[in-house]
Amino acid sequence: MADPKGFLTHDRELPQRRPVDVRIRDWREVYDAFPAEKLTRQAARCMDCGIPFCHNGCPLGNLIPEWNDLVYRDDWREAIERLHATNNFPEFTGRLCPAPCEMACVLGINADPVAIKRVEVEIIDRAFAEGWVTPQPPLARTGKKVAVVGSGPAGLAAAQQLTRAGHDVVVFERADAIGGLLRYGIPEFKMEKRNIDRRIEQMAAEGTEFRTGVNVGVDVTAAQLRAEFDAIVLAGGATAWRDLPVPGRDAEGVYQAMEYLPPANKGFGDSSISARGKHVVVIGGGDTGADCIGTAVRQGAASITQLEIMPKPPADRPGSQPWPTFPMLFKMESAHEELAELGGDRVYAVSTTEFVKDAEGRLAALRLIDVEGPAAGFKPVPGTEREIPAQLVTLAMGFLGPEKGGLLTELAELSAGEFFDPRGNVARNRSYQTGVDGVFAAGDMGRGQSLIVWAIAEGRSAAAAVDEYLTGQTALPVAIPPTARPLV
Ligand SMILES: Cc1cc2nc3c(=O)[nH]c(=O)nc-3n(C[C@H](O)[C@H](O)[C@H](O)COP(=O)(O)OP(=O)(O)OC[C@H]3O[C@@H](n4cnc5c(N)ncnc54)[C@H](O)[C@@H]3O)c2cc1C
Ligand code: SF4
Repeated sequence: MADPKGFLTHDRELPQRRPVDVRIRDWREVYDAFPAEKLTRQAARCMDCGIPFCHNGCPLGNLIPEWNDLVYRDDWREAIERLHATNNFPEFTGRLCPAPCEMACVLGINADPVAIKRVEVEIIDRAFAEGWVTPQPPLARTGKKVAVVGSGPAGLAAAQQLTRAGHDVVVFERADAIGGLLRYGIPEFKMEKRNIDRRIEQMAAEGTEFRTGVNVGVDVTAAQLRAEFDAIVLAGGATAWRDLPVPGRDAEGVYQAMEYLPPANKGFGDSSISARGKHVVVIGGGDTGADCIGTAVRQGAASITQLEIMPKPPADRPGSQPWPTFPMLFKMESAHEELAELGGDRVYAVSTTEFVKDAEGRLAALRLIDVEGPAAGFKPVPGTEREIPAQLVTLAMGFLGPEKGGLLTELAELSAGEFFDPRGNVARNRSYQTGVDGVFAAGDMGRGQSLIVWAIAEGRSAAAAVDEYLTGQTALPVAIPPTARPLV
């Protein structure tokens, strides 16, 4: 145990976010550096619990008390070994994970939980800075070939595990760069893209081959892949977006979040769809909506309003969501802080009834109405109709599952059983295998819209299943079965 009195002596502390008026002038990550002595105190708060619930909260089963102790003892080299033992990409989760581990931390029962995520990110950043993150090519090769379709966190985790197990792995990505939603969904101010680039460099040096600009199902068929490769891992994400089919939806200026964010992520402010000088409305109160807000702030929007159909969540755990579950709480992300400081609004329990167009078909306003909660079926509240000005709307209302394009349609026809589950995701057995022999599925494509940490856990687990399929045995770790779900 790091320090038997650490949790009594030190309060939880996180790095400061850079001042709003400074950080919105650039696209860099919003947090200031965190001094090492402060981090040691945060690691010292860990009680090294007999039953560490943080493990159960984390789908990767991260060995959290072990690396807290190692950081406290200043053994950073061993800390990164223990962290990498369960997580291929702590630089992604340490920055972006909503940290179910912290929600499950035992200290959280009657105090602020251990700052697990901050300890994680400091360990991996230090490891990169010290040059400890080096390629780990396999000692022997199996001669087996694996195709991974999709280069988000699930595909990358599967590819790294399988390459290190000695297989020849090719990652196919239809976009022009590797990373999936890490690259073109999540903005630079949440995670700078150099974090992806340096990891890809390591993977390429280990022997993973990357082919960008290849849309599998269009540029190459599933049949061709099956003929060329011994196994296929589908990791194409859940990118079919939910729409809002109300009158005026075709107005010029209404975009899906994933139409708006990628060009902004490519150009950092020099985007083909810019919020500059416009009244912006973001429909959807989740993380994707927050990313749209932070992007519009940096592009110089005239005003920003966020709309959410659900009622405002509570600030503290309600009795119905007790420790150690992952509660739905009111969050003040960096983008929300920026919105508040610039005088923008977050409006809850409201529904959009029409996109109002001007004579040229351009978006001019949104017609809204307040609604009752989900128990009342979001019944409109009479007399609350109103209009707000809007020249740019981004729809951030979630995703409906994987796109049923050429690739999945072709495979579905070959499937021995149902290729899709009742929710429209790709169905897998306990070994992540689909109804098509040798074809596996991992990440959002099989799970539905989820989180990076689940995608990595699935990628690692699917890799173990593929390795066993190819060689009859495996030493690769299995983080979770495909049926594992968050503690709610
Ligand atoms: C805007 C946004 C912000 C988010 N923020 C967070 C966050 O802060 N924290 C968090 O934990 N989660 C966040 N998420 C969710 C998280 O990004 C996803 O759960 C995660 O990326 C899923 O990983 P994946 O590897 O399954 O798929 P993805 O990351 O979606 O990657 C799939 C890749 O497959 C490619 N592909 C698909 N079909 C084909 C094909 N036929 N041929 C070739 N390539 C193909 C796609 O182009 C894509 O690059 C966010 C999601 C969005 C949309
Ligand atoms: S639950 Fe919290 S206090 Fe207990 S071992 Fe995990 S991080 Fe440490």
